[in-house]
Amino acid sequence: MTVLVTGGLGYIGSHTVVELLNSGYEVIVIDNLYNSYPEVEGRIKEITGKDLTFIKCDILDKAALDLVTSKREIDCCIHFAGLKAVGESVQKPLLYYENNITGTINLVNSLTENGCKKIIFSSSATVYGEENDIPYIETMKKGTCSSPYGWTKSMIEQILTDANTADPELSVVLLRYFNPIGAHPSGRIGEDPQGIPNNLMPYISQVAVGRRDHLTIFGNDYKTPDGTCRRDYIHVVDLAEGHVKAVEYAAKNKGTSIFNLGTGTPYSVLEIVNAFEKANGIEVKYEFGARRAGDLPEFWANSDKAKKELGWTAKKNLEDMCRDSWNWQKNNPNGYRED
Ligand code: NAD
Ligand code: UDP
Repeated sequence: MTVLVTGGLGYIGSHTVVELLNSGYEVIVIDNLYNSYPEVEGRIKEITGKDLTFIKCDILDKAALDLVTSKREIDCCIHFAGLKAVGESVQKPLLYYENNITGTINLVNSLTENGCKKIIFSSSATVYGEENDIPYIETMKKGTCSSPYGWTKSMIEQILTDANTADPELSVVLLRYFNPIGAHPSGRIGEDPQGIPNNLMPYISQVAVGRRDHLTIFGNDYKTPDGTCRRDYIHVVDLAEGHVKAVEYAAKNKGTSIFNLGTGTPYSVLEIVNAFEKANGIEVKYEFGARRAGDLPEFWANSDKAKKELGWTAKKNLEDMCRDSWNWQKNNPNGYRED
């Protein structure tokens, strides 16, 4: 069975490709390398001892996509390709709507015109918006997103759902990720943000490795146990395994299904800093700063549906996440740029 993975050289994509190859799938990756490095391909092959096909392709280029989808038998597509920086999306909304939404429409057209009816999409907990109670559960109404990035996820969910209504032969799986952190235990692939990291764990790792002076914790006056925000952090390898389960599910089920992929346990920013220090025996300097616009005080997942219907639960704990994040960072202090 062949799986097309868009954005497959990126952070979550590369870990998912490893798990797909380890589970015996043939994998074709397309990526325009906007936020990833060609070195990732070799590292995936090194970790798995298996081959994959990489084609440099932009999902905004429908003709190039058609060349990929028409020449090969593709059974299922996992769609990671997209822009994901929340702050940048506020500054450049049209760039985000064009890349993420037009790109997805091109992809779905190209897949369905060439016989592939199974699509798994990288959505996000952000689609629950500000209105919902916690923990988030898939049956809740979606909410008001706090950024154009979030709206692209919410809109793409709707576009795929509508495409499925028009074509009942489609299998659409919408995976709502919570906060992926960690790296492959080999330390060969991991998260390598360009410029100043927006997300917490890459920032902590870069402070620990000496690339940044200190972490600023955005707000310590929230109504949470220690005043800092709480999130549902999930190990990226667990998340990757969730995608393999979703491919199996899509092979057996038509229609649109939504699954939360989280652990169900929230940790505060301070708890993450402390756990990182403890797991790795290294100090992380931090200061408290102002709240970041758009941050919710706390949210986490109810992942019972994924357990029941996908047969998936997160297995790794916070110590695993902190250890593997640091293992990746210390072995690759400048990310992939050293190769
Ligand atoms: P990433 O940036 O590491 O990976 C995305 C990949 O898509 C990159 O390799 C990039 O080069 C590629 N890409 C972007 N635009 C493209 C285009 N037009 N054509 C072809 N390739 C293109 O990000 P990630 O963290 O691995 O996230 C993967 C997906 O999961 C994204 O859709 C993201 O929005 C979603 N997601 C991520 C998180 C998170 O916290 N990392 C949370 C929820 C959802
Ligand atoms: N955070 C922080 N300092 C940073 C980056 C993030 O205090 O430099 C906090 C942020 O306010 C949030 C949590 O860490 O409460 C997780 O943020 P991240 O951007 O990683 O994920 P989000 O939940 O916003 O998608």
